[in-house]
Amino acid sequence: MAADGGRIAGVILLGGEALSFLRNSTTVLSVGFAAILVCMLGGVWVGIQHVNETRAAWQRDAMYRDKVRIVFLMREAVRERSYHLTFAATLDDFFERDEQHSAYNGAAGTFLQARAELEALHTTEAEKRALGQLMKVIATRRAAVDQAMNLVVEIGNSPEALPPMRAALVEQTEILEALNAFVKVVERESDHQARVGERAIQATRRNAMILSAASVMLAILIGIMVAIREHRQVNRLRDQRNQLAKLSTTDALTCISNRRRFDEFLDFEWRRAIRLGHPLSLILIDIDHFKNFNDTYGHARGDDCLSTVSCAMGKVVVRSTDLLARYGGEEFACVLPETHAEGAFVMAEKLRQAVMGINMPHEGSSAAKIVTVSIGIATMTPEAGDHTSLLFAEADANLYRAKSDGRNRVYDSREKEAA
Ligand code: GH3
Ligand code: MG
Ligand code: MG
Repeated sequence: MAADGGRIAGVILLGGEALSFLRNSTTVLSVGFAAILVCMLGGVWVGIQHVNETRAAWQRDAMYRDKVRIVFLMREAVRERSYHLTFAATLDDFFERDEQHSAYNGAAGTFLQARAELEALHTTEAEKRALGQLMKVIATRRAAVDQAMNLVVEIGNSPEALPPMRAALVEQTEILEALNAFVKVVERESDHQARVGERAIQATRRNAMILSAASVMLAILIGIMVAIREHRQVNRLRDQRNQLAKLSTTDALTCISNRRRFDEFLDFEWRRAIRLGHPLSLILIDIDHFKNFNDTYGHARGDDCLSTVSCAMGKVVVRSTDLLARYGGEEFACVLPETHAEGAFVMAEKLRQAVMGINMPHEGSSAAKIVTVSIGIATMTPEAGDHTSLLFAEADANLYRAKSDGRNRVYDSREKEAA
């Protein structure tokens, strides 16, 4: 049991290692490229082999054609000898018979020359054996045939010359049969060699196709992997860029927009308001007696308070065209594009109520025994050349008045007071 468990654990471990190897796409790509290279080199090697095999097949074919031609020459020489023997037996004139004798010997010369040519070619074991057999038959028959020829030349056209001549012709026939048997062996060997060569050529063609297909498949696979990798890389870079952009415009403590984002946003909306002739409202929010809050509850609770207040106000600023930002310290700002003073006042009042709604104790505040905020609003329909500092100055002045008049209230330039 324990051994089985160990084996299973080993297999799982190996599987895990294999997976971690696959996860490293650079390694996989390198291995893939190496495999393609190996396949391509293999393809070149197999191609060379294919050319060699084909050339060898051509050479073999040519050689076998030569062999058959030579053996036919040898057979022709034997036939000629039979002809000269037969013809000499019909002649009365000695000199004419002697001419036939010379031609008979000349045919033997042709035979021997052809045989020498054949032996110079590459011969298989079976061909060597068959040639040996042929030469043995010739060696045993030749003397009797030569003797018959000599006798025919001597006595010419006479009844005594006919029996040895006929016997010699039988011997010649046996030589011809041995030659035919040799031709069959040569043809059989040629067929066999051609089949072996054809199989070798087919094998190299098949291997070349397998290697080419493997190269193409690997190339497609690697192409897909590279495309996926590129896609992931692009997505990762885009995510990182978005994250960085978000971080650079987000306040770390409260997670709402920071001063930088606020400045950009206000500048953009200010110019848009000038272009379109729309009103723009700015709300400045300041936590009341926050210094006392820190002094009473400590800085950590102060930080919590800032987060809670910004979260509560964030729930009020829901329009995607509005922006709530931490302006600095315990001060917040809200930009409301295309919003009149009435609308801005309603929003500011909602913000103040939302902060009170937290109901966070604040013993050190003279405004209430809970955390509250004072708010100043400014609304303008800016014209070309106007600067945002005008809007700020007005909102700040209203905030100052709200503080001076007892805090936890909203002031705008319409001299309207709330709470
Ligand atoms: P007022 O009602 O007139 O606004 O008085 P205040 O005490 O709120 O205003 P003051 O400007 O005197 O003090 C602001 C305090 O806010 C001082 C500072 O220690 C605190 N503060 C600013 N930023 C942070 C912060 O990030 N965390 C904490 N815990 N306190 C902060
Ligand atoms: Mg302040
Ligand atoms: Mg304050």
